[in-house]
Amino acid sequence: MRRMLTIAAVAMLAGTIGLHADDKTAARWFSHVEALANDGMEGRNTGSPAHKRAAEYVAAQFKKAGLEPAGVNGYIQPVGFKTRKIVEAESSLALVRDGQTVPLKLGDDATISLRVEPAPAVEAPLVFVGYGLNIPERSINDFAGVDLKGAIVVYVSSTPRSLPGPLQAHFGSAGERWKMYQAAGAIGTISIANPKSMDIPWERSTLARLQPAMSLADPSLDEARGQQLSLTMNPARADALFAGSGHTFAEMLALVDAGKPVPSFALPARLKATTKVERSNVESQNVAGILRGADPKLRDQHVVLSAHLDHLGIGGAINGDSLYNGAMDNASGIAALLEVAASLHEAGTKPARSILFVAVTAEEKGLLGSSYFAARPTVPQANIVANINTDMFLPLFPMKLLMVLGLDESDLGADVRATAAAVGVTVQPDPEPQRNRFVRSDQYSFIKHGIPALAMKVGYEEKSPEAAIAAKWTAERYHAPSDDLSQPIDRSAAAKYVEVVRDLAVRVANRTDRPKWNSSSFFKRFAKGATD
Ligand SMILES: [Zn+2]
Repeated sequence: MRRMLTIAAVAMLAGTIGLHADDKTAARWFSHVEALANDGMEGRNTGSPAHKRAAEYVAAQFKKAGLEPAGVNGYIQPVGFKTRKIVEAESSLALVRDGQTVPLKLGDDATISLRVEPAPAVEAPLVFVGYGLNIPERSINDFAGVDLKGAIVVYVSSTPRSLPGPLQAHFGSAGERWKMYQAAGAIGTISIANPKSMDIPWERSTLARLQPAMSLADPSLDEARGQQLSLTMNPARADALFAGSGHTFAEMLALVDAGKPVPSFALPARLKATTKVERSNVESQNVAGILRGADPKLRDQHVVLSAHLDHLGIGGAINGDSLYNGAMDNASGIAALLEVAASLHEAGTKPARSILFVAVTAEEKGLLGSSYFAARPTVPQANIVANINTDMFLPLFPMKLLMVLGLDESDLGADVRATAAAVGVTVQPDPEPQRNRFVRSDQYSFIKHGIPALAMKVGYEEKSPEAAIAAKWTAERYHAPSDDLSQPIDRSAAAKYVEVVRDLAVRVANRTDRPKWNSSSFFKRFAKGATD
C-alpha cells in the first residue's frame, strides 16, 4: 500500500524502559518491519535503488549489533544479474495442428518465463509426460515410450504422493526437472499448475509476467542453461494443448489427484513461439555479518542464519495499489534476524562457533542471491556447518506450534525440538509437503552444497481456525500489495519466533560435534565426502 511512513512512534516505544523482554523484542522487531516495508522502500525489488537502501539499513543494524563485516565491500556482497523483460507486443505463441495455426493469448492462456534465456524463435513438437519425472532410484520413469528429442515437455507441476515429501520437493524443483528433460534431449518446457496446489490464482500470478526476470550473471551458476523456452500454462486453458489427443486435462488432473499413474503421450500439435526480450545487467546486494565465536578451535566454523531481503517492487495494480510492500514476505524474516543479532549483542552472548547473519537478495527471482552466496560464500564453504532460514514465518496468531521444514532430514531436528520445548512450543513437520516448501526458499541453496539446513514458520493444526487464517492470508495477501503494514499481525508470536531462532542458533553454535544429515535422508548425498 502507499501511505506516509511513521516509524518514529514505534521506535520510541521500543526504547521505553520497563517493557517486558517480549514486548521489547516485539516492538523492535516491528520497527524493523516498518523500516523495510514502508512505502519509501518501494517493495525492495532486486537491483533497485530501494533494495540498496534496504541493504544499507541491514548493514547499519548489523554494525549496531556488533557484527563483523563479512561481505566483500564491508557488509555488502555485490551480486551481478542479467535481467530480461518481455516485449509482449512483439512476442507470440501459437499451436499448429493439422496445418491450422491457433494463437494462444499471452497472459491469459500462458506466460513465457524469462528466468531462462529464451531462443528468439522456437517451433517444436509437444509431448505430455504426466508428472514429468525420471527418477531411476525410485523406479519412476514418465519418459518411457515417448521421444523427447527436440521436443517441448508438457507436465503437470505436481509430484506423486508415493514419493516422500523432501523428494517431491527436490525432484519437483525447476532446476532438477530441467536436468532430466535436458538429459532426454528436450529443448523446452510447458508446466501446467495443479489448481489444487496453486498458492496464487492465475489472474494474480499472470501480472508478474511483465516484470523483469533475472538470472545470475555468472553463467556457471545458471541452472536453466540450454533451455530455449519455458512456458507456464493457465490450467483453465490447458485443454487447448490436449485437443485431438483423445485425452482432456481434467482427466489427467483426476489421475493426479487420485494419486494414480498418469500416462505419457505425444500431443498432436507443435508449439510456435517468438519471444522478444529487452535485456540489461543489474547489481544487487547480499548483506553479511559475523558474530565471532569464542572457542579458538570452533570459531572458524559458521552457523548461517539467513532470510531474504528482496520483494517484488512495484508491479501490476490490485485494487488500485501497485506497491508490493512485502511486510511478511520477507521484511518479517529480516527483522527477526536483526532482532536476534541485537539481543545476542545486548546479552553479551559468545557462542563457541561463529554465527554468520546473511540477508540475501533475489529470492523472488528464483533463490538467486542465496545460490550465489552458497556457491561463492565470503567464508570457506567447508566451514559452513548449518543453515537456519526464515522466510515469511507468518506470525498471524499465537505461536503454539513451530512448523519445521526439513525436521527429519538432519540432527538439527533434535536441536530444534529441544529449543522449542524449552519455550513451551511443539514442533511439527511440514503439514503440506506437496507445496514443496523445503526447496522453495533459500535454505535449499545451502542444502545443494551439502549443508544441513532447516526453515521454520509459525505452525498450525490442519483444519484448525489458525489453518483457515493462514490459508486466507495466502489467498488474499501472498504476493499482493496488501502484504503491507496495515495487516493484522500477532507481535507476541513474532517475539516467540525470534526467541526460538536465537536459542537454536546458539545451541547449534555450541554443539560439540558438527551437524549431520540423518543416514536416511535423501539430501545426505549432497554432503561433501558423502560415500553413499
Ligand atoms: Zn515471495
